[in-house]
Amino acid sequence: MTPTGQCLNSDDSACAGPVHEYTSRSGATTSERCERHQGLHDEIMDAVERGLQERYPGYDSPGSPPPDWFDEANAGERWDDDY
Ligand SMILES: [Zn+2]
Repeated sequence: MTPTGQCLNSDDSACAGPVHEYTSRSGATTSERCERHQGLHDEIMDAVERGLQERYPGYDSPGSPPPDWFDEANAGERWDDDY
């Protein structure tokens, strides 16, 4: 992708700081954001990550067993549910 020098989130709110190209956490994509919007994006991603880890500790470890507290009969859902 050719850098455009345009912040991806410039339509959302005012930009601040220089625009850089950032690699996503998965490493699969890159996106251009100003420093302000990249900071906001990081905060959101951190919050999402924290929420997931609270609900599903170790969810990002492939093949991890369900935690002790997970009770299929109780929860009414399966651990392996596809989302
Ligand atoms: Zn911006």
